[in-house]
Amino acid sequence: MLRDSFGRVATDLRVSLTDKCNLRCTYCMPPEGLDWLPNAQLLTADEIVRLVTIGVERLGITEVRYTGGEPLLRRELTDIVARTTALRPRPQVSLTTNGIGLARTADALAAAGLDRVNVSLDTLDRDTFKRLAHRDRLPDVLDGLAAAHRAGLRPVKVNAVLMREINQHEAVPLLRWCLEQGYELRFIEQMPLDAQHGWSRDAMVTADEILALLSASFDLTPDDLEERGSAPAERFLVDGGPARVGVIGSVTRPFCGACDRVRLTADGQIRNCLFAREESDLKAAMRAGATDDELADRWRAAVAGKRPGHGIDDPTFLQPARPMSAIGG
Ligand code: SAM
Repeated sequence: MLRDSFGRVATDLRVSLTDKCNLRCTYCMPPEGLDWLPNAQLLTADEIVRLVTIGVERLGITEVRYTGGEPLLRRELTDIVARTTALRPRPQVSLTTNGIGLARTADALAAAGLDRVNVSLDTLDRDTFKRLAHRDRLPDVLDGLAAAHRAGLRPVKVNAVLMREINQHEAVPLLRWCLEQGYELRFIEQMPLDAQHGWSRDAMVTADEILALLSASFDLTPDDLEERGSAPAERFLVDGGPARVGVIGSVTRPFCGACDRVRLTADGQIRNCLFAREESDLKAAMRAGATDDELADRWRAAVAGKRPGHGIDDPTFLQPARPMSAIGG
């Protein structure tokens, strides 16, 4: 088991397959992109599957989410998913993606056993999309979402980050559209994880504000408060249900006390928190010949040292050196 000193057990593994992305969302990275990791530093597909297997078979991982960067840019994705869903006990396997290319790959991913997708979509307006992501790809994202739905990757979840004066006014239209399409929308508070270090608390649209915006048009009732467990989203029934909307108040309503997550970066570092400042290098150990037992021991030690909270509110808080795209969101 991956237990930390506060008694939390990590069962949910987020694996970044690449730090590269084909969008440039302003809350994540600058328009010119970043210095991507050289290929030799990325874990190979076999190395990823070996580490995921150790996590599932020896360390109690029950959920694996592939992310990035943009995971659909990784050519071996379908193969990695198939090898993950073949593990026993079979983990739940999901994908967080910007949806570009999903129209082509959704059926193959479903056939490989993928259970669910989360697709990021912050706006339904093509010009706003271009302004926010610096690429004119809104139609590809919408096609990807529709293909995921047709392929049965349900529930299709949509992740949206609201930014003041850019897309804040789209909270209600986004929810209305997701309800029509049968997608489950979740709003995520913007976090201090952008490569440009441009985040400021004052500019962030808070969970309270998001709920106020939505409540002007919808009747929201808190849902499954007791069953929330480690889920980051507070969920609400919309107009009596069964449709729901989620709000992830990572900054103003932190859920660190119930966190069950651990992350593996594309270059093989274990991070026990999105905001961790330390990493444990499994890739170097693996390439130096470490056994599965030794890798499992290192992994356990990395989780044991997890801090009680992300500390964004602490005056000594320092943003991690890696941006979200390089950690895996
Ligand atoms: N490329 C994939 C995608 O777009 O979903 C996966 C990686 S992306 C880093 C994962 C999620 O993190 C996306 O939903 C994105 O909106 C979110 N994200 C990125 N930077 C963020 C930030 N600073 N604050 C909050 N969410 C952020």
